[in-house]
Amino acid sequence: MALPIVPIQDYPNELTGQSNGRLAASVLAVQAGSSPTLTMCKTAMRSFLAMADAATSAGITLRVTSAPDSYRTLAVQTRIFAERYTTQSLVGQPSKTCNGIKYWLKRGEATAACPGTSNHGLGLADDIVLDSAGKTLAWLIAHEQTFGFSHELQSEPWHIRYTAGDAIPAATLAYEEDDMSAEAENQIKQVYAAIFNGGTSCGTIPPGKPTNSIVNKLDYLIERAKAGGAATSVDHTHTIDLVLSADLTGRAVGSTGPAQPLDPTP
Ligand SMILES: [Zn+2]
Repeated sequence: MALPIVPIQDYPNELTGQSNGRLAASVLAVQAGSSPTLTMCKTAMRSFLAMADAATSAGITLRVTSAPDSYRTLAVQTRIFAERYTTQSLVGQPSKTCNGIKYWLKRGEATAACPGTSNHGLGLADDIVLDSAGKTLAWLIAHEQTFGFSHELQSEPWHIRYTAGDAIPAATLAYEEDDMSAEAENQIKQVYAAIFNGGTSCGTIPPGKPTNSIVNKLDYLIERAKAGGAATSVDHTHTIDLVLSADLTGRAVGSTGPAQPLDPTP
């Protein structure tokens, strides 16, 4: 079965100025609770989590074969490449040239990208555990593009990478919106309640949105959280934390940036 291979449309803005395999911690998202630990650049992680949730609903578990089969440092990529390739000519084996040196793939080894060029080094790629019955692969082939992912090589059915850049797929946004309403609505109500009713109830929220009222400020913070503007990551637990910890001047606690206008469209 031919794998769907879509070129990378764009790279997330957060990768601008970053070096392959040496990504700053600030652009990485880590799912320490998953096993193995999953690390990707923040933008790619959003769509992976949405895709993994959809897979779970279909009875499919998406997980990586090992932690460095998600984000992979340059040191690890260099080690893997050295294990799999040799500069000795091997008749009949694939070869590739890295930094002007020709290498041959050792027999029985899987291919690897030249160090410094892998999409694993950009936090975009994952190697997924595939079952022998082909259920996981069939699900990926049918659904990965919906979430901005694609295979990269016909020879690597386990390897997918995020291709959509900052054009967050609609399915990802829909997942996050659901996540927001299911998980965070109650917290938002509690914020209202804390402001207007001493934390006991949210039954008497003032109607309307008077300009620059505290209701307006809170609405604006929530809108920013929903739009992903309140944080570079739009993990909703995180953004709701920001809403809850925001100082209601439009600036999240700890932020050094300028306060945002609180009422851009009164
Ligand atoms: Zn891979």
